[in-house]
Amino acid sequence: MLRIAIQKSGRLSEDSLKLIKECGISFINSSLKLKTESTNFPLEILYLRDDDIPGYVADGVADIGIVGENVLVEEGMQHLAVEQLGFSKCRLSLAVPKGDNYQDISDLNGKNIATSYPKLLQAYLSEKGVEAHIHTISGSVEIAPSIGLADAICDIVSSGSTLISNGLKEVERVFKSQAVLIANKELSEEKRQILEKLLFRIHAVQRAQR
Ligand code: ATP
Ligand code: ZN
Repeated sequence: MLRIAIQKSGRLSEDSLKLIKECGISFINSSLKLKTESTNFPLEILYLRDDDIPGYVADGVADIGIVGENVLVEEGMQHLAVEQLGFSKCRLSLAVPKGDNYQDISDLNGKNIATSYPKLLQAYLSEKGVEAHIHTISGSVEIAPSIGLADAICDIVSSGSTLISNGLKEVERVFKSQAVLIANKELSEEKRQILEKLLFRIHAVQRAQR
């Protein structure tokens, strides 16, 4: 039996479950339970917070998992990635108040930037030779400028409508993300074979969608 960790409830949940179902894997779906077992494939599903998924897979509590690359790379776990899944596409972007006369990235020197992704942001700023003060906050990043907590933010964007409704404009793209399948590095031979079967089905689903 292989154990997969997916997000319990959030922007990855629906498409993660959809992919598993499209692979022909059936299970009784109860959002109230922490785990369910497939009725026709040796797979057990664990429902977790997305941030916990890389750690659980690295530790072997779950064998494989589905998580956004943004979270995976922020947690320094990119070595666990097996396959890009093509859904939950989004980007991590820098945004400033829309009235700002922003010219280029050097405008952020010495500024306060709020984000939930300090490592990805720091890597980007270092690459660009910019020194700013990074304030790590866990949620509601987009309101930080309007309450005077920061001059700029670095947050997940897909359509950009959240930025606009908070009076912000996107000025730099820091990181492009999508959902990825990750796997523990020391799977048993039996589990590895189940993973191979699962990957075979995932590839078939991906081909059918092209
Ligand atoms: P949890 O409660 O599990 O910690 P969360 O609030 O941290 O959830 P979500 O907002 O559900 O996370 O986002 C999960 C992942 O989905 C993000 O890490 C990102 O990879 C992707 N994502 C976030 N926002 C969007 C979006 N607007 N469009 C597409 N994908 C997104
Ligand atoms: Zn999360």
